[in-house]
Amino acid sequence: MTFSSGLKNQLTEKFSERVRFNEPMAVHTTFRVGGPADAFVTAMDATEIIFLIQWAAEHHMPYLMVGRGSNLLVTDKGIRGVVISMAGSLAGIEQRGFAGISAMAGAGLGALCRFAIANGLGGLNFAMGIPGSVGGAIRMNAGAWEGSMGQILTGIRIIRPDGTIGFMDKKLMKFSYRSLAFCPESGLELSACVILEGVFALTSQDPDMLKTEADALLAARKKSQPVSLASAGSFFKNPVDQEPAGRLIDLAGCKGLSVGDAQISPQHANFIVNHGRASARDILRLMRMVQETVFQKFNILLEPEVEIVGDESTEKKSV
Ligand SMILES: Cc1cc2nc3c(=O)[nH]c(=O)nc-3n(C[C@H](O)[C@H](O)[C@H](O)COP(=O)(O)OP(=O)(O)OC[C@H]3O[C@@H](n4cnc5c(N)ncnc54)[C@H](O)[C@@H]3O)c2cc1C
Repeated sequence: MTFSSGLKNQLTEKFSERVRFNEPMAVHTTFRVGGPADAFVTAMDATEIIFLIQWAAEHHMPYLMVGRGSNLLVTDKGIRGVVISMAGSLAGIEQRGFAGISAMAGAGLGALCRFAIANGLGGLNFAMGIPGSVGGAIRMNAGAWEGSMGQILTGIRIIRPDGTIGFMDKKLMKFSYRSLAFCPESGLELSACVILEGVFALTSQDPDMLKTEADALLAARKKSQPVSLASAGSFFKNPVDQEPAGRLIDLAGCKGLSVGDAQISPQHANFIVNHGRASARDILRLMRMVQETVFQKFNILLEPEVEIVGDESTEKKSV
């Protein structure tokens, strides 16, 4: 299904300047890579998301939720259908009870961490410096320094595929390494739902101590990761019961390897960085070269942690 001018008019009437057509995804991803989304809409509340999901279904179009685009590699052909990002009332954060926080999916993880510190609530410092949204972090079960979203969540509010809103208790969710799934008893598929809000159980702690710890973790991150360059964080998942992916890539001699402006970071071998003009195709070629080299040397196939999305008619097949 392509966007006729009639369909464009429908979205423009509803969202005015908050819908953009042929919007380059490179400006919405931390990799600074990615072709155009047919339509990119910033939704301000749950009703608008429900409208978009139903509108997309009615017109046989796919839709994709995005947070900060910090775990995405969008292909050069871009994304067909509607890309939905969240702002406005979808970015609120508030304290709940004595040591709880509820945060809307569109809030930034950094804002959530700072809110927790200011209110003397501990447990979130591991997320300091992860440049994602609350929704994206829950979806990816983001984590660092032995902490992860699954450890502190008590549940999430979701939009179900039928457009209703409901609460999903943690008991019905299965968190694993950089991944979340709903248990079969929930009767729902995560991929068919939108995460609206996360509810977190934290512990009461001294704000100054929390701030000192957060600053130290941020400094450690800056020292070990190429944070000033465009990337999507760790590119590959760490293989189970093996050396970390970065170490394997380093031992395989791939540190510094490049294709065009895409490079295996000399600072951290599990980061692919974009020096400015890399295409998704460059990054995918580099990914494949690293996978092949590591496989030949260690018989281990590295799997991308970064999610590759978008029209794959050319580059994904031809790497
Ligand atoms: C410099 C750097 C450092 C990083 N360090 C870490 C780290 O230490 N640990 C770590 O785990 N990750 C890290 N990352 C990766 C990334 O920041 C995390 O995975 C982050 O949680 C992704 O959030 P996002 O909002 O950017 O999600 P996006 O990349 O926008 O989306 C990721 C996935 O979530 C889905 N999604 C987003 N919002 C919703 C929603 N509301 N409902 C349903 N699905 C949704 C998207 O469709 C997509 O499938 C790093 C990235 C960078 C660039």
